[in-house]
Amino acid sequence: MIRGRFAPSPTGELHLGHARTALLAWLQVRESGGQFILRLEDLDSGRVRSGSSDGILRDLAWLGLNWDEGWDIGGPHGPYRQSERQDLYEAAASKLETYPCTCSRLEVLQAVSAPHGVEVRYPGTCRSGVTHAHRKAALRWRVPDLEVHVMDGFNGEVKENVARVVGDITVRRNDGAWAYQLACVVDDADMGITDVVRGADLLSSTARQALLFDALGANRPRFWHAPLLTDANGARLAKRSGALSLRQMREGGADPKALLRDVALGLSWQINAPCQPQDLLGQWQIWLERIASQR
Ligand code: GLU
Ligand code: ZN
Repeated sequence: MIRGRFAPSPTGELHLGHARTALLAWLQVRESGGQFILRLEDLDSGRVRSGSSDGILRDLAWLGLNWDEGWDIGGPHGPYRQSERQDLYEAAASKLETYPCTCSRLEVLQAVSAPHGVEVRYPGTCRSGVTHAHRKAALRWRVPDLEVHVMDGFNGEVKENVARVVGDITVRRNDGAWAYQLACVVDDADMGITDVVRGADLLSSTARQALLFDALGANRPRFWHAPLLTDANGARLAKRSGALSLRQMREGGADPKALLRDVALGLSWQINAPCQPQDLLGQWQIWLERIASQR
């Protein structure tokens, strides 16, 4: 049984890019009669906006998507809000070889003097003991020094030696919040997710998460990182770009079927009329074959 998920962070409103990611994840699951799960990634309490999680549910329903398990309807793998699953992250972290780290972001940057734009590798300063005992400590996982290989459904083989690229990974921040990488992997494993369909902005997380699945003794899901939607100028459609949110379109009386047609056209799918999600069943498979033939 295929199980996929959409895992938004309730930090603001959903945009067109989210609609597309949710649609792709939904199609991938529904084309094979699988199950679709909604999970709320609300661990970064400082960035959570009240009302956002309800708005997300309304947006998804407005688009015509449906789900089998989620933070509104519950299900056998709940709870589906990460803020209510912290004991699971704690248990998982205790299985990893971790150590406290008191380095500030600035200290890490200065220690490695990385050129701008290059990913910063944590140099392991606190591996043999924290440098600032009076500070609140983050928790880092001592990652194994090996090359991870992952087959991505869209991007082909991803290879990364995590220890060389980013170094030891933060699993709990110094404010006590469990980090995205750990929580995401623990939940995908615990919720029996077989396929992760999401935007290519998370491609850089793939090898790190695969390594975590391995370390926790869990099965890796298949990964599909879909190319990001861009606007007419080739700029990425992100939350900050000022593009209309799904809520604004919904409340402004926009036609969700026209929006889905635009999303489909943005993927170069041959859809000319406004459509509902179920009208697009089959398109995922066609699209995959086309992408595979272009590679
Ligand atoms: N919560 C993440 C986001 O909204 C998505 C995480 C994932 O799909 O793995 O960007
Ligand atoms: Zn440190």
